[in-house]
Amino acid sequence: MTTSLRSGSLGAVRPASAGPRVGVLALQGDFREHAHVLASLGAEVSLVRRPEDLDGVDGLVIPGGESTVMDKLTRIFGLQAPMRAAIAAGLPVYGTCAGLILLADAVLDAIDGQESLGGLDVVVRRNAFGSQNQSFETDLDVPALGDAPVHAVFIRGPVVESVGDSATPLASLADGRVVAVEQGNLLGTSFHPEITGEHRFHEYFLAKVRAA
Ligand code: GLN
Repeated sequence: MTTSLRSGSLGAVRPASAGPRVGVLALQGDFREHAHVLASLGAEVSLVRRPEDLDGVDGLVIPGGESTVMDKLTRIFGLQAPMRAAIAAGLPVYGTCAGLILLADAVLDAIDGQESLGGLDVVVRRNAFGSQNQSFETDLDVPALGDAPVHAVFIRGPVVESVGDSATPLASLADGRVVAVEQGNLLGTSFHPEITGEHRFHEYFLAKVRAA
């Protein structure tokens, strides 16, 4: 078997045929669920908790959880600047729910002092569907993923209030509100495919990672 050395892997030898290396931000939230889905799709998953954990990743997932907490922790752990730089450099990043909030250029109903990483030319509104007990599930048409609808679970999710010229909506609710967007190598969903057995968004993301 041929092998290759990769920078950032501390000399670890990995097979040339190995899947893409995908980091999952693991400071808070449902990072384990994402790691599980990505691994099942053949990615080599690593958990990102420190700036050096970003070295050598081919893509990054920002999980669902609480965007205010993740924002604070990324700043405390020195991850905000390197994550912003990685996004600006074109690293493929997929954010679900709180992860979408972190990727948005502007956040409505943020708490005082809340910052996002930015990159996605969208305005999102936090907790747009009300409180935890107003969580809901619905089927969405996502033409980019084929004909079969996506079963989507919303847990205090954000809505994309406006989509800038650089971003493209991928899915909307029946009332027209946008809940999935992409922009180049960035992908964001208001809902949580990582907990429903729906793997097409992760596959779609891994295709971006492989192409990058
Ligand atoms: N309401 C959360 C926030 O503002 C997001 C919820 C989620 O990720 N399921 O970050």
